[in-house]
Amino acid sequence: MIYLDHNATSPPRPGVAEAVLATMNRIEGNPSSVHGAGRAARQTLDEARRAVASLVGTHESRVIFTSGGTESNHLAILGVAEMAEFQGALVTSAVEHPSVLLPCAKAEQRGMKILRLPVDGQGVIRLEDLRVALDPSVRLVSIMAANNETGVLQPIREIGALCRQAGIPFHCDATQWAGKLPLAADAIPADLLTLSAHKLGGPKGCGALIVAAALQLAPQLNGGGQERGRRSGTENLPGIAGFGAVASLVVADIEAESARITSLREKLEEGLLKTIPDAFILGAAAPRLPNTTALALPGVDGETLVMTLDLAGFAIGSGAACSSGKNTPSHVPLAMGLDQELIRSVTRISLGWDSTEHAVDRFIHTFHRSVDRLRKGSLLQ
Ligand code: PMP
Repeated sequence: MIYLDHNATSPPRPGVAEAVLATMNRIEGNPSSVHGAGRAARQTLDEARRAVASLVGTHESRVIFTSGGTESNHLAILGVAEMAEFQGALVTSAVEHPSVLLPCAKAEQRGMKILRLPVDGQGVIRLEDLRVALDPSVRLVSIMAANNETGVLQPIREIGALCRQAGIPFHCDATQWAGKLPLAADAIPADLLTLSAHKLGGPKGCGALIVAAALQLAPQLNGGGQERGRRSGTENLPGIAGFGAVASLVVADIEAESARITSLREKLEEGLLKTIPDAFILGAAAPRLPNTTALALPGVDGETLVMTLDLAGFAIGSGAACSSGKNTPSHVPLAMGLDQELIRSVTRISLGWDSTEHAVDRFIHTFHRSVDRLRKGSLLQ
């Protein structure tokens, strides 16, 4: 199997499973316990926290461990909304992940005003729309760094600067950015930053919310007061240790990996467009993640193509993996102005740490043959 679906999840990088297993095997105590076993657990937790903090170039006290991107997004949005007693407004975009859009909708039901900024044909918000939206009633701006379906990047530096000028906190869902582009040293000027371990080759079910020192959040899980009272529940120590391990790996090679994946993706896109001239890439004219290609193929059913490729030994995504199983067209290409039929044709190829030139060559060949067969209406040729 050649795996080209890293935006759905990136398989554990070498060394991560070992860190998880070592924690399960060796750490007996609860990090909150004062005895030696507890202190050993606390040390593992602290080390992982330092590694995740260095991935973002921040202080370790800013890291809240969570169960993943979904929980981090809920904590950021509902944590701010609850502090504001569900008064005022939230600003987000039309192309956010459902784990941002749905807590926003929840806040809306509780009485907040939600502004969902539209995107242009490339999937990018217009800064002018944001500028106009930022009035004193706005409690939070939540805009993603990179889109999971298209890889399109939002102008986060400018968004961060506008929010700072207006004195409004900025939450950025960097779930897809982390591990694909450098993140350290204020690359994303956000007050709240969402990370998910499994998208960068760490364990599934583990993530973090990075919170600026001055920001007040209402905890969404209450109990034993872990994570300085901001997220109760005994920590998922094996997962967190795996997150720490992958964070250190990413910090060490992000520049080189990002350049390697960029050139692999160029080869992939050149090959695909050469063999299938009427295919087009979503957000091609916008800045994008180096690893993602969302391809629209007139007259082809994306789900069928994904299944055909699966049989041929390749794993790619159709639309958003997170919403697969649903029959409704994805909101992301819809917001970019694609028609329903074209949306159903979209497939997503997302490269990652285990992608090779050889795999890309084989994929281009098989992809082109599969599309040809589907267009001729037969799977048996
Ligand atoms: N945000 C984005 C942009 C994502 O791509 C995902 C995962 N598909 C999430 C949030 C949710 O992350 P998790 O799977 O860790 O809950």
